[in-house]
Amino acid sequence: MNFPNRFEVIVIGGGHAGTEAALAAARMGVQTLLLTHNIETVGVMSCNPAIGGIGKSHLVKEIDALGGAMAQATDRGGIQFRVLNSRKGPAVRATRAQADRQLYRAAIRDIVEAQPNLWIFQQGADDLIMDGDTVTGVVTQTGIRIHGTTVVLTAGTFLGGRIHVGSDNYQGGRMGDAPANRLAERLREMPFRVGRLKTGTPARIDGRSVDFSVMEEQWGDDPRPVMSYMGSRSEHPQQVCCHVTHTTERTHEIIRANLDQSAMYSGNIEGVGPRYCPSIEDKVVRFADKSSHQIFVEPEGLKSNELYPNGISTSLPFAVQVEFIHSIRGFEKAHITRPGYAIEYDYFDPQDLRHWMETRFAGNLFFAGQINGTTGYEEAGAQGLLAGLNAALRARGEAPWYPRRDEAYTGVLIDDLITMGTREPYRMFTSRAEYRLLLREDNADQRLTEKGRELGLVDDARWAAYCDKREAVAREHERLRTTFVQPGSAQAELASAWLDQPLKREYTLLDLLKRPKVTYGDIAALAEPEAGADRVSDIVAQQVETEIKYAGYIQRQQDEINQLRRHEDTPLPEDLDYAGITGLSNEVRQKLAEVRPGTLAQASRISGVTPAAVSLLLVHLKKRT
Ligand code: FAD
Repeated sequence: MNFPNRFEVIVIGGGHAGTEAALAAARMGVQTLLLTHNIETVGVMSCNPAIGGIGKSHLVKEIDALGGAMAQATDRGGIQFRVLNSRKGPAVRATRAQADRQLYRAAIRDIVEAQPNLWIFQQGADDLIMDGDTVTGVVTQTGIRIHGTTVVLTAGTFLGGRIHVGSDNYQGGRMGDAPANRLAERLREMPFRVGRLKTGTPARIDGRSVDFSVMEEQWGDDPRPVMSYMGSRSEHPQQVCCHVTHTTERTHEIIRANLDQSAMYSGNIEGVGPRYCPSIEDKVVRFADKSSHQIFVEPEGLKSNELYPNGISTSLPFAVQVEFIHSIRGFEKAHITRPGYAIEYDYFDPQDLRHWMETRFAGNLFFAGQINGTTGYEEAGAQGLLAGLNAALRARGEAPWYPRRDEAYTGVLIDDLITMGTREPYRMFTSRAEYRLLLREDNADQRLTEKGRELGLVDDARWAAYCDKREAVAREHERLRTTFVQPGSAQAELASAWLDQPLKREYTLLDLLKRPKVTYGDIAALAEPEAGADRVSDIVAQQVETEIKYAGYIQRQQDEINQLRRHEDTPLPEDLDYAGITGLSNEVRQKLAEVRPGTLAQASRISGVTPAAVSLLLVHLKKRT
């Protein structure tokens, strides 16, 4: 039968990519259906109940700046918040929140259910309806045909999913959920390049059986950071303590003695696993000289006894899991509530996508999330939002939009995936971005909210909050630029200490803030705002401080970007000897020599030709003239 109504966007999958995709499309005013296996699992965190972290929180803030749900749900569900890299520069500072799994899921469900134009339907998608090379709908597991202008597929680890615990393996999309095999088969009949990847999760432990007294305590930060630009500390639920423990020599001995029983080492799994989130078997083998590895013992929620032991994901048999867990300090009597396992699943080569997430082989079909070879909720959410917004643009008959590498980590993510592909689960790091100082956590709204508003993604409340913040930042810059400290004044004495010499001339507060030893807090104490004016918020203060202190570096990165953009149409001579250009990798030389692009812009679009390589080409061309 046909579904009673037709949609402009149909999103398959209610995970992190799917919910952001569906919400984005619906915010843009198009009729959207979220078609998912089980309404109760919308927003479920398959693995670690934590959001953010280095590189990842930048994506969360970008999703937020474009009106998405992830940061808001984190503020409603976060039971411990920290700023990582707080002593390092602003470019690599990152917020991380431990979430209560149930509260997070409930928050996502609330946001989804409150969204106008968004409808949920519980069914598995088994097939796509095609009209030639264009998708026109979905067929569900019970044969219901749902017609739509566009389809966004976000099936996560479910396509051809196979779960491994030791030598046992069975089909599953994640523990407790069936896989999506019929859809996987259908997609394998299409021209997409399909590969297998794997990921793993640790056993969960009952907190009542753990001896916390031998573990190190780890509390969240004070002052506590907030994830969403619209969030506030008052939304945060009760905050809790995490703990840290370590594996022992005995743990490693047990693992080494049983490696042949690990699904990964016995050759049962062909998929490649996440390099930066290795299993404990992997760590013991790869870092054989280390006698101990850290484990973060993280609560799964306020009303749950379960703990997530972060750092010991495994596909060893259950009996071996029990033995090695009992060899860990504090876990000697641990009761395991769920075994750890590895999962293998189908993914599609992201080089078969366009930058706006549409597949090259099927028009109006968009892919997002884990199926594109990424790992992580944040990477999935960012792709989902982009796919959803572009599906909505297509449905409205408008041109696609995606951020450039110099505008957003989301731009870096999709550009890396689409130009270089990936053979292992891809996760975001700040080191992947060339223009890190421009792409900070504190300014994602400045980079994206105006565009989001133009696209229809940002509602009035967010827009008003953004405009207020933008004005507050501008006002504070102006106040610091026009407030002077005069020699001989009471403030001059303090300022002299910062300058390491007596104040001989007048200085603006802005000049003083540029000095390495001086913080925004010092300046604020030196000169309060005029009577009647409020002190700026911490967030405004942080942004102003960063913009002033790093103004030189920020300008240099901006100049570099402008220069590259100006030279995009610069022709590349037909006879250019790429082998003779210093600094280029052999791979890039070879590709350029093969393709012989006509302009710098064309060169930059060749897979593997990075912005750094384009800069080298530009320098070389200038030398030639
Ligand atoms: P998912 O969150 O998997 O959501 C997919 C959704 O689609 C589900 O709701 C599913 O029911 C639905 N669905 C699938 N097929 C269909 C269909 N045919 N019809 C209808 N609905 C469908 N990430 C890390 O960063 N670090 C880790 O260590 C890590 N370990 C992991 C361990 C395991 C065992 C698993 C399963 C995942 C792990 N992840 C890890 C990955 C993380 O869970 C994913 O990156 C993230 O959930 C991907 O989001 P997604 O939206 O793409 O897919």
